[in-house]
Amino acid sequence: MNAPRKLRCEACPVRCYVAPGQTGACDRYMNDGGRIVRTDPLTVLDRTLAAGRPTVAFATDDWDGSLGRFPTGIGAGTTYPDYKPAPFIVSREVEGADVVTVVTEAIFSYCGVKVKIDTDRHLGAEAATVRARGEAVGHVTTAEYGSQILSLGGVQHLTGGSRAEGNATCDTLLALCSREPVDLTIDGGATLAVAAGRPPVVDGEPETRMRVGCGSAAIGMFASQWHGLVDEVVVVDDHITGVVSEHQAGRVLGWRPTGIRIRGHRSTPGRYFRVAEPGRGWGGTDLADPLAILAPFEPKRGARPGLTLLMLSTTGEQHAFYELDAGLVPRRRDLPGALAPSIALIAENCEPSLASVLFAAGAGGSLRAGVTRNPVRLTRAIQAGAARLTVGGAPVWVWPGGGITFMVDVTRVPEGAFGSVPTPALVAPLEFTMPRAGYLALGGHADAIRSLDAILAEGGEYTADSRLVAR
Ligand code: SF4
Repeated sequence: MNAPRKLRCEACPVRCYVAPGQTGACDRYMNDGGRIVRTDPLTVLDRTLAAGRPTVAFATDDWDGSLGRFPTGIGAGTTYPDYKPAPFIVSREVEGADVVTVVTEAIFSYCGVKVKIDTDRHLGAEAATVRARGEAVGHVTTAEYGSQILSLGGVQHLTGGSRAEGNATCDTLLALCSREPVDLTIDGGATLAVAAGRPPVVDGEPETRMRVGCGSAAIGMFASQWHGLVDEVVVVDDHITGVVSEHQAGRVLGWRPTGIRIRGHRSTPGRYFRVAEPGRGWGGTDLADPLAILAPFEPKRGARPGLTLLMLSTTGEQHAFYELDAGLVPRRRDLPGALAPSIALIAENCEPSLASVLFAAGAGGSLRAGVTRNPVRLTRAIQAGAARLTVGGAPVWVWPGGGITFMVDVTRVPEGAFGSVPTPALVAPLEFTMPRAGYLALGGHADAIRSLDAILAEGGEYTADSRLVAR
């Protein structure tokens, strides 16, 4: 009797030999009784299951499930290197229209994530290297309004460095796309623990509040609430520190000059840049003592003994109240009860800090050949809005310009949708949906079109099982 045969898996360039009953290197395919099969079932979103429960929105936020059952690429398998049609090309009737959805699991060497971390704390200099397991996996990019953005992954880290760098990058991307926590360090900066949809942890401290605005915005929002209760307010911010008596909002409300002087670059009245170095102190500066940004008060410009001063950070987490003594030196005093509600209001207006993860990838490569014999027509159809791209049923944002470069919020993609292969590369489900006539016009694989019922009954090259999920 012949011994059970090892089989070659052809679903990615690794081309594993898989022993009977075993999985290949990625655990996504196995040798099941002499056939290579996908280990996860084909996932179909089902409207009836979703009735009364939320489902992943298809293409638009207000999709009401009217497409009925929607086949996703999750568990579909792949047809790498796409010399044959995609694993499933599904025809359905939707409100009297013939619709085709082409589903596949795409292998991405050109992919990464953008991680938005809601924090005022300085995480690291722009372009500083971000590391996982000591390996470079990305870099710090721009600071946005109340957040800092990390750009992780990309083809250079996946393929352009050492094996360890590529593997660390791939593992980091997969974990972040799967909403799992990841530990990161930034050269010359902070240590981070981040997971999509959860509060970030910076240097061991969970972040709770996202800033209410920059220092200038905070002045504009709350100047009227402070008027009459305190003589001067300074909102300390690494980017734009606000001073109410000089600020346009204060002027309009009739705040009197206080003779305050700020050490920093004056941009416009009441708005100062570069009052300190970036750091993890007040308002994202390196300040432990906010008075360090003040030069001596000027009596000729309104400073007087007894003048009161409130200093705040952009989240209100740090605040201190002062009174000028006879020598015009600020002395710390207890916060008057009348000012407490304004501090509480700032806290109330701070949104919860979260880490958000967008998966960004290019679907402009060979996988298009699994959709159509004329790949550029798929690109044009996506760009023109004639075909819709989704990831596990979740809506994507497609970049203008050439190719099919998209981003998707990983928290909107069903769990377990992402995978990886050891090349290393990420695997993500894709669905291209369009009218049947449009699909045929762009050179679609007409002979491979099947009904969803037939697909659920017969399976495909790699898939026999399917599952219906509401979410
Ligand atoms: S790594 Fe996975 S997909 Fe690639 S050949 Fe091996 S089993 Fe197949």
